[in-house]
Amino acid sequence: MAERDDHQSSADLWCEHCNRLIDASAVVLDEDGKEHCPSCTELVGKDATTSDDEESDDEEGFPKPPWHFKVLLMATVIYLIYRLIWFIFWISHHA
Ligand SMILES: [Zn+2]
Repeated sequence: MAERDDHQSSADLWCEHCNRLIDASAVVLDEDGKEHCPSCTELVGKDATTSDDEESDDEEGFPKPPWHFKVLLMATVIYLIYRLIWFIFWISHHA
């Protein structure tokens, strides 16, 4: 009983059938000791068919928005506007 806690129940498990993550505490343990989904009673975790599924990638594998690129662009634009205002200011005093 004690050796089970630090292994299986620490991580959440993915249900292929429901296409969602099952909380470790919500997983139903059957009499055979295997983990089942509480909604569809399909096997989850290591007992389920371990296919390298790529279709669940949209949950965590989506590309990050290039916010740093936008920040860089904004900084460049602000700097150019600042230099333009400075230049106009300088011209008006030296014309
Ligand atoms: Zn399920």
